[in-house]
Amino acid sequence: MDMLTAFDSSASKFPTKNVLVTGDGESLTYENLVDLSRRAATAFAAAGVGEGDRVALMCYNTTGFVIAVLGAWRVGATIVPINHKLAPPEVAQIIGHSGSSLVVIDGSLHACVEGIDIATMTTDTPVPGTPHLEEAIAAAEPLAVSDQAHLDDNSIAEILYTSGTTGLPKGCVHTHRTVTLTAMTAVIGLSMTRDERLLMSVPIWHASPLNNWLLGTLYVGGTVVLEREYHPVAFLKTAAAQRITLCFGPPVIYTTALNSVPDFADYDLSSARAWLYGGGPIGPEVAQRLAAGYRSDNFFQVYGMTETGPVGSVLYPDEQVSKAGSIGRVGLPGVDVRVVTANGEQAYVNQVGEIWIRSATTMIGYLDDPEATRAAIDTDGWYHTGDLARVDDDGYLFIVDRTKDMIITGGENVYSKEVEDALTAHPAIADAAVVGRPHPEWGQTVIAHIVRIDGRDEVPDDLKDFLGDRLARYKIPREFHVAQSLPRTPTGKIQKHLINRSELPAAE
Ligand code: AMP
Repeated sequence: MDMLTAFDSSASKFPTKNVLVTGDGESLTYENLVDLSRRAATAFAAAGVGEGDRVALMCYNTTGFVIAVLGAWRVGATIVPINHKLAPPEVAQIIGHSGSSLVVIDGSLHACVEGIDIATMTTDTPVPGTPHLEEAIAAAEPLAVSDQAHLDDNSIAEILYTSGTTGLPKGCVHTHRTVTLTAMTAVIGLSMTRDERLLMSVPIWHASPLNNWLLGTLYVGGTVVLEREYHPVAFLKTAAAQRITLCFGPPVIYTTALNSVPDFADYDLSSARAWLYGGGPIGPEVAQRLAAGYRSDNFFQVYGMTETGPVGSVLYPDEQVSKAGSIGRVGLPGVDVRVVTANGEQAYVNQVGEIWIRSATTMIGYLDDPEATRAAIDTDGWYHTGDLARVDDDGYLFIVDRTKDMIITGGENVYSKEVEDALTAHPAIADAAVVGRPHPEWGQTVIAHIVRIDGRDEVPDDLKDFLGDRLARYKIPREFHVAQSLPRTPTGKIQKHLINRSELPAAE
């Protein structure tokens, strides 16, 4: 089944039930959302979007985003969600690579696409002179069901970009089959029902918020509570006022709320049956602090990646303290997870190997990149994650390293290569190495080691501005260290493990 039919099926069962509620008090029922998305489909068709076209979406967590997703699917288009924190050149790269013909963008982000030759529709905040989704919807008739595109399992639903080791983002192509199965896997794995009230306060365009939690909730006929952006007080207020049952995000959203909101204990969070976190582990002390603070023994860790849906493994509530730091022992239903050594054998206890995942939710490949696809998914359907893990005596997996040179900071992935490329594009910089440093709240912070062309030992004055024009803010290093040279292997590869240990003086 395609995901649009799955949504329409929920809407026919629960027409008058709220499907979307916002922290500001706006609400839409299932029948409202069907109607609005049909009108959006008419507006998209009028803008020339048809079957097989790609619609880029760059939004906060708003009703406009969800309406646009469903509207695009009704005309047979593929959605290309874009991280709203990216800098204009990064956005241009994704729009160009995906071949998107229309971008639906929050009006407050409009400047990001101003220089790009693409049809643009704003949502939420209007921009004079640019077509506005909500106005177009108000003026449009709902697209008749008979005029809707025919979708099947193999229709392309989404292209989700993840940054890569090459420094350039790769587009994970998901069909309606892989997307629907991803939603269903979340539903089955977390026993979701129509009573679910999901709190969406982390960026909705990320693979897991989108495919597991938004689409999973639509699949069962539940309600999604949209918080435009994460803010610790709003997060707690909305969670309590909306009696949410389920929430997903990186560990930092839970720890920040607990650590920074003085009257945390006054919020009644007792309706939440599951607090899910992913993107990084938490230690035993944090696990205990969260359980005590949230008065909940319902923290789950989920592990997965955009390529696999995402689906992967789960660390269940009763394992949070005893197996803290592990990503769990088993895959979700229908998902196989194994650890494989360099010679292709199953790793034995305490041996380190790469995590492989096999699941029907896995993307069909990277857009226009058969070579990268072949390198990632083997002929038996195993996706090679690039995450290195060891297995303990009880069979639990612990990530020990990543082959993909990636830093996870506050739930956002930063590939060192893209930051290094931006650094060496600066006229004063000859060489750069970007590493992650452990941080108690953010998981890791981004640190840059640079070598100047002229051998001087100050950080160039304009470096932060230079990077700000090219990279999303969360990718910009928090510290810069200037060195005379960087340690390299005889083949020229930077030895990051030596840099991490080095005592280079901070230049800033
Ligand atoms: P993304 O495709 O953005 O979801 O990023 C996927 C990558 O994030 C994985 O390959 C892991 O390296 C990392 N990751 C995801 N979940 C976890 C987790 N629970 N613990 C540690 N790392 C994780």
